Amino acid sequence: MFIKPDYNVEKLEDIDFQALKEQGKKVLLFDLDSTVMPSKSGEYLPKTKELLQKLKKDFTIAILSNNSNSDYIKKVRAKSDFAVISHAKKPSTKVLREYLTRIGKTTDDAVLIGDRPLTDILCGKNAKITTILVDSVTKDTEHKIVRFVRWLERLTIRK
Ligand SMILES: [Mg+2]
Repeated sequence: MFIKPDYNVEKLEDIDFQALKEQGKKVLLFDLDSTVMPSKSGEYLPKTKELLQKLKKDFTIAILSNNSNSDYIKKVRAKSDFAVISHAKKPSTKVLREYLTRIGKTTDDAVLIGDRPLTDILCGKNAKITTILVDSVTKDTEHKIVRFVRWLERLTIRK
């Protein structure tokens, strides 16, 4: 099985958000761990926090995470001034669709941004929304075995 994200970039800052805005995109759904913060850290990197604040002017921002640890999610929510949705069960699209319906938006309005092909990108593909694959926010400090597993998963990606 091959998965083709609409865009494949190294880091969040490489995404052409202006182009997404011009395409009529209104909602940016970000994966949590390794996409907007180092895995299990519960802390945004300052540059990510700054980027998200800036993007709030043009888009509805939300986190869509498969994480189901309520203490952890509570910690993330305390640091976020936008919706943080847990138990997303990506690549299933149910939770994503329910969220878009709740805010009165459609799949055409939305973009899903994440670091994992088999959960994030596949979820976006299943929902037929625009997808952007980013590399892990901590890619430079990850253990070799983690990088290897990521490399293996990315064998599913068609550029
Ligand atoms: Mg992730």
